[in-house]
Amino acid sequence: LFLLAMPVNEAIGAIAQMQTGLAALGRVEELMRLPVEARDRPTAPAPPEPDGSAIRFDRVHFAYHDAAPLLDDVDFAVPRGSRVAVVGPSGAGKSTLLALVERFYDPGSGRVLVDGVDVRHRSVKDLRRRIAYVEQDTPVLAGSLRDNLRLAAPGANDAGLLAVLGRVGLRGLAERSPLGLDAPVGDGGVLLSGGERQRLALARALLSPAPILLMDEPTSNLDARSEGAVRDAIAATATHRTVLIVAHRLSTVTDADRIVVLDSGRVIGDGPHEALVETCGLYRDLLRRQLLLPAA
Ligand code: ADP
Ligand code: MG
Repeated sequence: LFLLAMPVNEAIGAIAQMQTGLAALGRVEELMRLPVEARDRPTAPAPPEPDGSAIRFDRVHFAYHDAAPLLDDVDFAVPRGSRVAVVGPSGAGKSTLLALVERFYDPGSGRVLVDGVDVRHRSVKDLRRRIAYVEQDTPVLAGSLRDNLRLAAPGANDAGLLAVLGRVGLRGLAERSPLGLDAPVGDGGVLLSGGERQRLALARALLSPAPILLMDEPTSNLDARSEGAVRDAIAATATHRTVLIVAHRLSTVTDADRIVVLDSGRVIGDGPHEALVETCGLYRDLLRRQLLLPAA
């Protein structure tokens, strides 16, 4: 209600901050991230450099405060309308790359551009409007299925909400409950399984109108059947938006336009699946470990 007393632009800012808070719910590392106020004071506007990239990492170096250098000269682009995956061993810096796009941190040197503009020159509100972000453990709100989905699309009707639940294999949640879309998910989603929470977060992102979708291991908690549904939903949404997806599970991304292989903060491979199988030993190792390639 306090929102009603504010000028419209302030209210929008407050909502953006609430969403930022939500995205950070329960995360200790949030304490170390750039405060929203710092991120929301964009520096002098620079002219856009429209090269057709939705996201571009331009020679990015990064270290967490007091820690050893992590990202080392990361340089690649995600063309508008493409689906690009980032894979690599745990600890390689994959989630950190996404955090830089969201501007939770700034690079030590180099730039991260979104739609041709350095993210430091964009406000949090502007970034949020362009980007839907599914974190590794995206929080689910206490409340109903409807509440959780409406967060991304306040105007969506029930048919739209059920359709998106269907795309991620969750329609049964609403259909099995006498409450339908009003079925509660419990505090933090405790009434859902880990895989259901993950898919609800994904459904929310699919509903969002943002043209860029960032996803961090969206299939890590899913069984093979749900993974297939999610993979198809991601491929379908990528026909009209840009997707940057971090994947531990390679079967989720072998059909991406390009796969970037990150190892200890460095890009050691970048290309479509077939090319990487030929040229990138680490990529072959990762595939073998997941039984997606016969042993050498
Ligand atoms: P990945 O997603 O590839 O597993 P991350 O980007 O999460 O890798 O982490 C890369 C490295 O940075 C890891 O060694 C991790 O421990 C470290 N790290 C991640 N987040 C933080 C943080 N907030 N503060 C300090 N170190 C961090
Ligand atoms: Mg990670």
